[in-house]
Amino acid sequence: MAIYRKCHSFRTLLTNQLKFNFLLNEKKFTNSVYKCNEIPKSSGIKLSDLSDRYNTKFNVVHTASSVEPRYVFANNELDLSDIEVYGFDYDYTLAVYKESLHYLIYDLGRNVLIEKYKYPKDILKLDYIPDFAIRGLHYDVENGLLMKIDSFHQIQLGSVYKGLTRIDDEEVLNLYNGSYVPQKLIRSTGGGEQLRMKQLNDLFSVPEICLLSNVTDYFNRNHITYSPEILFNDTQNAVQSIHPLMHKMIDENLIHKYLDKHNSLNTFLHRLKDNNKKMFLITNSPFKFVPFRHYDIESDCQKWEKVSTLERGNIYMEGTVHQLLEMTGWKGNSILYFGDQIYSDLADITLNFGWRTGAIIVELEREIKTFNSEDFREAVSALQALQLLIDESHKTNDNHLLDQLIQQRDALRARTKTLFNPQFGSIFRTHNNPTYFSRRLFRYSDIYMSFVTNLCNYSMNHIFCPRRGLLPHESNISQVHIQDNQSNLP
Ligand SMILES: [Mg+2]
Repeated sequence: MAIYRKCHSFRTLLTNQLKFNFLLNEKKFTNSVYKCNEIPKSSGIKLSDLSDRYNTKFNVVHTASSVEPRYVFANNELDLSDIEVYGFDYDYTLAVYKESLHYLIYDLGRNVLIEKYKYPKDILKLDYIPDFAIRGLHYDVENGLLMKIDSFHQIQLGSVYKGLTRIDDEEVLNLYNGSYVPQKLIRSTGGGEQLRMKQLNDLFSVPEICLLSNVTDYFNRNHITYSPEILFNDTQNAVQSIHPLMHKMIDENLIHKYLDKHNSLNTFLHRLKDNNKKMFLITNSPFKFVPFRHYDIESDCQKWEKVSTLERGNIYMEGTVHQLLEMTGWKGNSILYFGDQIYSDLADITLNFGWRTGAIIVELEREIKTFNSEDFREAVSALQALQLLIDESHKTNDNHLLDQLIQQRDALRARTKTLFNPQFGSIFRTHNNPTYFSRRLFRYSDIYMSFVTNLCNYSMNHIFCPRRGLLPHESNISQVHIQDNQSNLP
């Protein structure tokens, strides 16, 4: 069978993990589940045809070409010739850091927990675990659980952790009375209330989550009574408090150890300058760390006079977006602003001021490489083909067949998730839906990319257009499904 030749790695997975072997061998398929003469006539499905039909569906969904990791992706139409001003956030937008910075943040945060908050010295033995967490996760401060939530507020089962321990699906379903998280727990209504679900949205939060999970695990193992909310607040405050120390440590001599140098950044910024584009940088990092802040350089402090105009080459601090627009005369839709934090960098300026926005998501490059890998493509094609068979099987009375297909699908889902991150999967999707993080990304950014210099691959007048994605009722896969179904119609 074609599937057998194609999927060597996948074949091993199926052989080892799944009882239902029809994907590999038609004979095994019929022997392992039914004999042909036992097929209920009411099912409308001829089992001898199932593997062929699976292959047809697999091939339909397996033909997509690879995605270039350095593309710029459009959520909304954006004509670059309309853009006169380019603005940038600093950390993880213009400055992208190596993973060594996560180790440093973790170590410094852990020290603060011990020295300032008097946490047990034993936590010194708990090291940073790379790839434990991803950004965009939610932490339930009441139950002390870390989890991934999708755009429909559904918890992704299998991605819920207390400390370093995965929580059983049944326990999660009992705790939340299902898998739905009500809006009031997750989204502020603007009344300044404390939310029970805290979302961890930036890359600095990845080492913070790991520290929180390690400490939680230590407390659990040693039967130390604690409030998850207090642990969360202490960890967050500890990590936030290290920024001045971190900036002091990362001086000119050490910057190369932490900063991922992109030579093309110079080319990119010069290209903007040569095309008479105005540029500005907004950062909350100290001036000595980023040499673009409102300081009087000679006296090394801020001036006292009221600022009524903004002059090129000067550094300003504080102020508001509204004042910035008033003083410069810039129109919101002529500004393209880049940031890595969906809420604090992008949401307000696009919702309230109409700025065009570009999100910088450094994880994108790695996720696209996984997406392009043969392992992933085969697994996801098989998943979609299986899902179509499951859809068809629903109209039968054959619950045993349906159970087998669902069991196989669930094993494959777990496998595809692990290809991105063993605990939490992709930052962009759960099994079927975009994540909560993705939904905000698509809403608050016009374009998104792994790094700003990806724009060097496009002209200064490029018009970005979102791909005309198929709506569920327009899917060509569904059309294959319908055509196949029609052949079964009486
Ligand atoms: Mg940033």
